[in-house]
Amino acid sequence: MQTVAEQGAISVNTENIFPIIKKFLYADHEIFLRELVANAMDATQKLKKLSSMGEFTGEVGELAVKVSVNPEEKTITVEDNGIGMTADEIKKYINQVAFSGATEFIEKYKDKQDTREIIGHFGLGFYSAFMVSEKVDIITKSFKDGSEPAFWTCDGSTSYSIEPTQKEERGTKIILHVTEESKEFLEKTRLQGILNKYCKFLPITIQFEGETINETKPIWTVSPNELKDEDYLDFYSKLYPMSEPPLFWIHLNVDYPFELTGILYFPKVKNNLDIHKEKIQLYSRQVFITDEVKDVVPEYLMLLHGVIDSPDIPLNVSRSFLQADTNVKKINTYITKKVAEKLGDLFKENRKGFEEKWESLGLFVKYGFLSDEKFHEKAKNFTLLQNIENQYFTINEYREKIQAVQTDKNDSVVFLYTSDEGKQQTFIQSAQKKGYDVLRFEDKLIDSHFLSALEQKEEKIQLKRVDADTVDNLIDTDTKAESVLSEDESKKLKEIFEKILDNKSLLVSVQSLPTDEMPAIITVPEFVRRMQEMSRGGGMFGNFPQMLNLAINANHTLTQKILKGDENEQNHIIKHIYDLALLSQDMLKGKALAEFIKRSVEISNK
Ligand code: ADP
Repeated sequence: MQTVAEQGAISVNTENIFPIIKKFLYADHEIFLRELVANAMDATQKLKKLSSMGEFTGEVGELAVKVSVNPEEKTITVEDNGIGMTADEIKKYINQVAFSGATEFIEKYKDKQDTREIIGHFGLGFYSAFMVSEKVDIITKSFKDGSEPAFWTCDGSTSYSIEPTQKEERGTKIILHVTEESKEFLEKTRLQGILNKYCKFLPITIQFEGETINETKPIWTVSPNELKDEDYLDFYSKLYPMSEPPLFWIHLNVDYPFELTGILYFPKVKNNLDIHKEKIQLYSRQVFITDEVKDVVPEYLMLLHGVIDSPDIPLNVSRSFLQADTNVKKINTYITKKVAEKLGDLFKENRKGFEEKWESLGLFVKYGFLSDEKFHEKAKNFTLLQNIENQYFTINEYREKIQAVQTDKNDSVVFLYTSDEGKQQTFIQSAQKKGYDVLRFEDKLIDSHFLSALEQKEEKIQLKRVDADTVDNLIDTDTKAESVLSEDESKKLKEIFEKILDNKSLLVSVQSLPTDEMPAIITVPEFVRRMQEMSRGGGMFGNFPQMLNLAINANHTLTQKILKGDENEQNHIIKHIYDLALLSQDMLKGKALAEFIKRSVEISNK
């Protein structure tokens, strides 16, 4: 077959295809290198395949892709020893196929407003070379016996030329003549950076300026039973050099009904500041695609780290399309299932170890529990609740533990919790004196959402913070405690308090509480507080609750003193016990606190 010099016009109906490509892909120019290296790699793998099928009987040799840069000549070269192309194949694959791909792309997206959606998700293949080049040359020789090497060149217009050339070795060499605008890509470190990002785990040796960039058999492609823990830990530190070792990992591996491999790591989370989404890297046949895995991985699992590799994730479509894609949905479901199973196994096999990891794990599990029904179905059996004695219970275990003592008159089991052990200490102690157990829900980020989800998903349980009411009313059992005060005395006591405190946002009541409880107690009902917390983001309530309940303990000895005392004495005692009530809710601040301290010192001096 003789290659004859030929000029031609590329058959596209859009005249100025390149300005449009440039515009669309502006933010992501660097992907040209990924596309060219991926093509080169494909060409070598095709050769391997042909050889294994007996269709190529020559020497395969060491397959590699070589990238080099020449800043003086302003060129970047990507060279492979793969199958190469004949002149006819160039015409077919480059002039027609590749151009039609580009044309299709433009047809599809030219009217779209939000071009950012597409950027980086549409592999433009060979033609992305024109994003950075004023001219592209192809020098190629097919693996086929007796084929003539061909030279193709195109300056980015729709015309090209093709002619015979000299080339000894089989394979393809793509030479980019880089534009002034894109000269950043003529810097070695820049190119090295791009190759490290996209090509670090390609299955064929990739060399840049003579040095190998990649690891051809990353562990996610290896069968799990050939791997030891060290291998997983090593790989983790390769991916995230500065991170602490992960808690554990899941090796994903399916080939039907979609292909997917990968390793998901559960990182150690010490505090919420550690949480970085976008830690999972998405690959397609070992080519890095993106670390924006939204839609592919369920939202709550984006806290995980690691790698997912699937040729079945369509990367050349926009986001909204991705959400609707059936493969993506299946992948999503599969990952959820795998993660839930793994957690379930860990829980069963080593409960103690699971509890020790709960501080980190809890965040994923709670997030999944409240946001994904399928996950919740499985996770409810290993979601742990921790009480302030640092014991862990599953939801059912906990219900069983407390129901004898903490069931209210409507048969709801009341789970009591603290969101801040230090600040709510007085209330915790009251609850404990009463024989109640107190859970710890101290995670600011997730716990308030988690406990509403718990209430919604579980039958007949209620969650109340320990300071939501006076201890006798926290769990309404419909038994009235005895009061030492007559009805008249109670009424009078209430009036005295109201008069002296003179505060319209206080709801004063007299209650029969145990004698060793505080003389007056401030509470914010659970419902009110949750509403306030929810609206706090909008700034409607500020930081101070608007309505407070003030319960006066009828059975406290001080109430007698108040009832019998003169106005001066009443004033003195009531102000003081009110301040104490505020103090135990961590609500005594500023001037009021200073006055309280002064008064307390005076009292000690009496
Ligand atoms: P895609 O790779 O998605 O098919 P491209 O525009 O990247 O689209 O490439 C078009 C075609 O050109 C490829 O399918 C392949 O047949 C051919 N091709 C591109 N690069 C090479 C190469 N380095 N060696 C051999 N063939 C190549």
